[in-house]
This record gives sequence, C-alpha cells and structure tokens, in this order.
Amino acid sequence: MSAYDELMAFQRETEALGQVMGRLGWDQETVMPPGAAEQRAEEMAALDGVLHRRRTDPRIGEWLEAARPESAEAERQLHKIRHRFERTRRVPEKLSAALARTTSLAHRIWAEARATDDYALFAPKLAEVLGLAREKAAALSEDGNLYNALLDDYEPGATEAELEAMFGALRPRLVALRERVMGSDREVPRLGWRFDEAGQLALSTELARAFGYDSAHGRIDKAVHPFSSGSGLDVRITTRTVPEDPFNCFFSTIHEVGHACYEQGIDAAYLLTPLGRGVSMGVHESQSRIYENQLGRSRAFTGWLFGRMRDTFGDFGIGDGETFYAVANRCAPGFIRTEADEVHYNLHVLLRFDLERDLIAGRLEVPDLPEAWNARFEADFGLKVDRPSNGVLQDVHWSEALFGYFPTYTLGNVYAGCLHAALRRDVPDLDAHLARGVTAPATAWLREKVQRYGGLYEPRDVITRATGEAPGEGPLLDYLDAKFGEIYGV
Ligand code: ZN
Repeated sequence: MSAYDELMAFQRETEALGQVMGRLGWDQETVMPPGAAEQRAEEMAALDGVLHRRRTDPRIGEWLEAARPESAEAERQLHKIRHRFERTRRVPEKLSAALARTTSLAHRIWAEARATDDYALFAPKLAEVLGLAREKAAALSEDGNLYNALLDDYEPGATEAELEAMFGALRPRLVALRERVMGSDREVPRLGWRFDEAGQLALSTELARAFGYDSAHGRIDKAVHPFSSGSGLDVRITTRTVPEDPFNCFFSTIHEVGHACYEQGIDAAYLLTPLGRGVSMGVHESQSRIYENQLGRSRAFTGWLFGRMRDTFGDFGIGDGETFYAVANRCAPGFIRTEADEVHYNLHVLLRFDLERDLIAGRLEVPDLPEAWNARFEADFGLKVDRPSNGVLQDVHWSEALFGYFPTYTLGNVYAGCLHAALRRDVPDLDAHLARGVTAPATAWLREKVQRYGGLYEPRDVITRATGEAPGEGPLLDYLDAKFGEIYGV
C-alpha cells in the first residue's frame, strides 16, 4: 500500500467518526430523551478525544512526507489534510482544552444572561473567551493578522482586508435602500391568520421535494432552531412551526434544503474524504440563500406557493398573488438578525463583523461592547436597542468563540447574488418553471456549477468558475435595489 493510500484509508475512518459525531449532535437536538443529557455529554467528549488524537497522529506527518499524489485531485486531498493537520498541531493542547471548557461554561452563562437581560453577568466570561480566542489566533497566525487566522476556520483563503473592502461598499448602498423602502407610502400587510401545524409540515415537505431534497438520503424532523447536518448519503434537516407565521417554517425549510442539497450534490467519489464536504461556510450559505431568497421568494415561485397555501389552508385573507409576493418579502427594521428581511439582514452582519474585528484587535474592550453595539445599530437601523437580549446578547456565536464566523453569512449572500445573475443569464426561461413550482432548471445548474465539486476548489474560485467572473457585491446590490424598489415603488 502506498503512503497516499494508507493516509487516505486512515483519513476515511476519521471522516466516518466525524459523521458519527455530527449525528450525535443531530440526535441531541431532535429526539434524544431529556434525561440523557449528562451521559450524552460524556459520550461526545469521549468521541471528541478520539477524533483529536487521530487528527494530531504523528503518522499523518510521515504519510504526508512520503505521499506521491498522482492527480490534481489527490494533490488537493493532501493539501486539505496538511492544512488541517498543521493548524490542529499549532494550537497547544492546554489552550485547546481551556477553550473547550470555557466556551461550554460561557455558553450556559450567556443563555442565562440573555434570559435575564443581564450583560454584566456575561461580560467577565466573554472577556475570558476573547482572551483565549486571541491566544489561539496568535498561535495560528501566519501574517501577524489575528482575525485572518480565525477566518480560516470558516472561509479558507478569505482575508479581513478583502472583506472590509467588499462590505465597506455594501453598507452605504444597503442603508440608502433601507431608507428609501422605509420612506415608501406603500403598506405591505402581514399575514393575519393562524396556520395549523399539520398543514405547515405537509407543505414544507412538499417544498423540500420541489427543491430537489433527496429524502432517501435524508429526513426532516422538528427542532427549536432549524439546521442541516451530515454529508454524503445521510444529510438531515430540521424545521419548526409558528402558528401565525408559516413563512418561518417554509423559508427555513427551503434554506436548510439549500445546505443539504449542496452536501447531497457532491461527487460520490469524494464520499468520506476531505473533498466530500461543502468547501466553506460562505459557499454553503450561498446555496441556502439562493434557494431561500432569489428562488423561493421570487415573484414566480411565490405565485405557485400562494396557490398551494390556499389549497392547504383555504382563504387566509390575501386576495391575490401580487399582494402575497409583497407579504412574503415584507421589510421592517427589527432587532433580531435571524428574523431580518433581505434588505436588513446584511446590515446586522456587518455590525457584528466590525465589532468583532475591533474586539480581536484590542480596539474595543468587552465592557464597552453594548454601547458600541447600540450606537451602530441606531445609525444603521434608526432604532434604539431597548434591552441586551435585543442587542448584544442575541447571538450565541461569541460565547462559543466563533469569531470570524459572522462575515460568512454576508459573503454567502454576495456569492448568491453572483450565482443568481449567472443563473438568469444561462436559464432565461427560469420563471416559467418556478411559476409551476418546478425548480429543477435552477437546482440542476447549481449542482453542475457549484455543488458537485465539494472541496475541490478554493471558495472564491468556485464562484469565479461558476459565473465567469471574480465575486463582488455588485450583483447582490442590483438585485436588492430592483426587487425592493419595485415592491415598495421607490
Ligand atoms: Zn444557513
């Protein structure tokens, strides 16, 4: 057996164990009996230990040294393994353990602080997590930039400077669009009805199928927060229902189906290898967002959805498809990122991106964070934050040391904008299909252009290859201006 084959066989087992770990996480959020929590924590910690030992096994270094890759694909597999191996080894074991221990505690304290609106309770723990994250970044940094070192976990190859330029161009045009929309005298109503759970779940399953989700290799369950998990032949999603807001169920299902279809669409030859997963959080989010927004909330597709909702729930007080389209795209400034419409969403992310960079660089101290948050929020949204749970305490990320994660949400939207423009160019009659609830011409295009490659290309290169040009914020802004300018007559 060659060194390359030995390494890949070892890696395959590691990947398989990683999938098992993911499935334990899925189980915990869906069907695990509540009394099992303590035992589950021990099971997960044990498996985590096994995985850590495998990922730092010195034999990997020897195999990497001796391996002679015979194709560009094999070369790329080795690159992914080497990159992960070197990063894992650069973080001292003591620091790694301190991060795991502190974030687990910080997560609990964050949840309590959010429930009681008590930032002072969370601040000392956050300062501890931040200190450890900076230490980790220093251990990983190759160019002296701490934030770049953290970004690499979520968006390999992305840099703070590149994102700062892209997001810096995005923000003023988003604020300007937001102000035009809010100044419109056109009233877009809310849904004022209650929609039964059985109907919502049945229709969301139909939507998942319409968007190409393969339920022979996945399943849909209920969870408090929708997510997708797994890759290869077992990719599961969850959804939730809110009686007065069926869009919550439908569009979060379509969003998770976007993530799941990416994993299901990867070339079967990459199964249980480093190339067998989505290449980055940003590219992943591009798939979920284009499914959810550019396709799912398009005029053509909502026309079909309007009919299916009337079939399912009867008359729910919206008279025509055009009004329904506006309702499904209703804009309103709100405190909470995860509830934001397409116009406001990226402003939420840019705020977090700027504040977390300041925290990591030491330009902003933890006690001053709420004030900085509230001032920026008022400047961009025209609203005063009324309590920490509606502001700085709303997201889980920083308690878990996920610094560098937030920008991938907006990067995903930017990528979705690029892909959507190219898709419309390549499939000019797309709307005729969407109007019949048929997404296949779009989902097949995405599979062919993006999904099947898995981790084969660098994230930016995936988008460049699919669209024929380097990614930029222009197409997203043009799409938002055109869509919301028309809905709101501004
Ligand atoms: Zn997502």
